Amino acid sequence: MSDLYNENNDIEEEKNTEDLTSGHKDASTTAKAGKSDNSEYEDVCFICRRPESKTGKMFKLPNNICVCNDCMHKTMETVSQFDYQGMLNNPNLQNELDQYTRQGGFPNISIVNLADLQGDGGIPNKQKLKKKKTKEQTEPVLDIKNIPAPHKIKASLDEYVVGQEHAKKVISVAVYNHYKRVATDTMDEIEIEKSNMLMIGPTGCGKTYLVKTLARLLDVPLAIADATSLTEAGYIGDDIESVVSKLLAAADNDVEKAERGIIFIDEIDKIAKKKNTNSRDVSGESVQQGMLKLLEGAEVEVPVGANSKNAMVPLATVNTRNILFICGGAFPDLEEIIKERLSKSAAIGFNSELKDKYDKDKDILSKVTVEDIRKFGMIPEFIGRLPILFTLQGLSKEMMVKILKEPKNAILKQYQKLLELDEVKLDFTDEALEAIAEKAMERDTGARALRSIIEEFMLDIMYEIPKDDNIGRVTITREYIEGTGGPVIDIRNNRMKELPQYS
Ligand code: ADP
Repeated sequence: MSDLYNENNDIEEEKNTEDLTSGHKDASTTAKAGKSDNSEYEDVCFICRRPESKTGKMFKLPNNICVCNDCMHKTMETVSQFDYQGMLNNPNLQNELDQYTRQGGFPNISIVNLADLQGDGGIPNKQKLKKKKTKEQTEPVLDIKNIPAPHKIKASLDEYVVGQEHAKKVISVAVYNHYKRVATDTMDEIEIEKSNMLMIGPTGCGKTYLVKTLARLLDVPLAIADATSLTEAGYIGDDIESVVSKLLAAADNDVEKAERGIIFIDEIDKIAKKKNTNSRDVSGESVQQGMLKLLEGAEVEVPVGANSKNAMVPLATVNTRNILFICGGAFPDLEEIIKERLSKSAAIGFNSELKDKYDKDKDILSKVTVEDIRKFGMIPEFIGRLPILFTLQGLSKEMMVKILKEPKNAILKQYQKLLELDEVKLDFTDEALEAIAEKAMERDTGARALRSIIEEFMLDIMYEIPKDDNIGRVTITREYIEGTGGPVIDIRNNRMKELPQYS
C-alpha cells in the first residue's frame, strides 16, 4: 500500500499538477481534437461518470483520464480547505510526519499511481460511453412557425384519423389560432384567448390518437397525463405540476421547446366534484383548482429529469402561457344531464313525448353545453379556461372498417407489410372486415378492440405461413374470423389449399 509512494510517483504527481493548472488550455485543445475526432465513443468523467455531452468540456489528465469541470472544481475546493498549515505547525504531528516520511509513506494513505489504472494500451473504451446517435432532423409536416391554414391541418389529420369530422375541424382551427398567437406573440395588444380545449367522447373513439397525431404532424412535444393520478400538491400521487415536467422530458429538457408543446390530460371527468362527500377532496375539485393557473399561464418550477421536487435535482422554470392544454374524457352519464335539460327547456306539457325523442337521439352528446359540464361536477373557473368544447362520436361499424384499412398506418397495412417481407400477399374480404368490426362493437371499447381481435387470429397465420415457401397469398374470410372455416391459401403455382380452421 504505502510502498506505492516512491520517487516515480513524485514525478508523476508533479506532472499531474502541471496538467491541472493548464487545465483550460488543455480542455480547449481537447475540444479542438474532439471536433476532428468523430469516433463513436465519448469521454466519461472519471469521478461522476457523466458523459461529455452532459458535462461540457472535460479536463484531460494523463493516461486518458477525463474529469469534468464540476468535479475538478469540487476536488480543488476540498483540497484547498485542508489545513496543511495547522498540521505542520503542530510539533507532535510534525514528529509523526517525519517518522512516516522516513519509513517511506503514511499509514492508511495510498497514493495511487495513475499508470497502474491504465492496463495495457491506455484506458480502453470502458472509460467511454457510446455516443448517442444524433437524431436526424426531420422536417415537420406542419410548421408551427408558419402555421398552415386550418383546412390544410385538417387534411393532414384526415390521413390518419377516420371520421370525427367536426372534432378535426374544431381542433384544426383552434391549433391554427393558437400557434398563430404564439408566433406573433399578440398576447399584449388585443388579448387573444388561449385555445385550450375540452373534448368529450366515448372510450376508444380516437381522442388520444387525434392529439398524438396532431403533435406528431406539428413536431411539438406532447405530454399525456391521466387526471386520475393527479392529486393536490403534498398528497400521495402526482402533483399537478408533474404534467409540466413530463412535457419538459418529452422536449428533451429543452425549456423553449416545451413551452410550445401540448399537454393532454385524459380522464378529466374523473376529477369532477364529488357529490355528497364529507372527507377532504384531494383528487377532485382541488385538482381542478390547482390546474387553473397552469391552464391560464404561469411560471412553474419543475424538476429536470425527475418528477419529484424532493430529490436533489435541478429545477427549470417553464412558462405555461403558450402551452396548449387539451383535456379529454368520456363523461359517462353526461347524456342523462343533457336529456334532462333538453326535455325541461323544450316543452312544458308534452314532456313525456319529447323525452322519448331524446332517448332515441344517438347524437345527443354533441348538444352539450357548458352548463351540462358544470352540472357534471366541473367547477366554472375550470370550464372557463377551456373555451373550446367539442365532442367526438362513438364509432360505428362502417367507421371501424375504415379504421382497419384506410389510415396511412392502418392495422391491415401493417400486417400486409409484414407478410410482404416473406413475399406473401395478405388480403381481407369485405365480409371479413365487417365481421371484425362487429366483434369489436360487441366489446364496447371502441377501436382499441380491433387490434386485439386481429392479433388473436393473425397469430396462427403469422406462425404457419413462414413454414411453407410455396404460399403466395392468404385471403382472410368471414368464416375464418367467425371460426367456421379457414383462410384461403393460394400456392404460388395457383393451386388452392385450405388451412386448418382457426379456433
Ligand atoms: P380514447 O378516445 O379512449 O383516447 P384512443 O385515441 O386511445 O381512444 O384510441 C385507441 C386506438 O384506436 C388508437 O390508437 C387508434 O389506433 C384507434 N383509433 C381510434 N379512433 C380512431 C379514428 N377515428 N381513426 C383512426 N384510428 C382510430
